[in-house]
Amino acid sequence: MKERAPGDSLECPGCRAAIRPLQALQGGTVSWPQMAGWWALCPACGRGSHFRVEREKMAQYVILGAPGPDWEHTHEVSAPGLTFRRDPAFLHVWFDGRHFEFPARDDRHELAGVES
Ligand SMILES: [Zn+2]
Repeated sequence: MKERAPGDSLECPGCRAAIRPLQALQGGTVSWPQMAGWWALCPACGRGSHFRVEREKMAQYVILGAPGPDWEHTHEVSAPGLTFRRDPAFLHVWFDGRHFEFPARDDRHELAGVES
């Protein structure tokens, strides 16, 4: 996994609008709790992109090719006070006095197509 130094702003890959950490949380939809990542929609144009959290930091990332899972951070910002917790069904994020939770997207289930 490659990482950049914090400091870049988050940016929509579609319209290039700057995305603030709070906007990335408010636009969140589904998550991948195991990698502390979620999918969020741009507040300006509605295009989605991947975000993830680390302690007091938020990053935007792209998935790299198979055999993965591997990813590369394209943008990172510091997010003082940001904390998160992973559980199997949700990614929970606390930031700016608010709590967000994004339901896990079960890729394994979709790929397998059968109950185990
Ligand atoms: Zn956009």
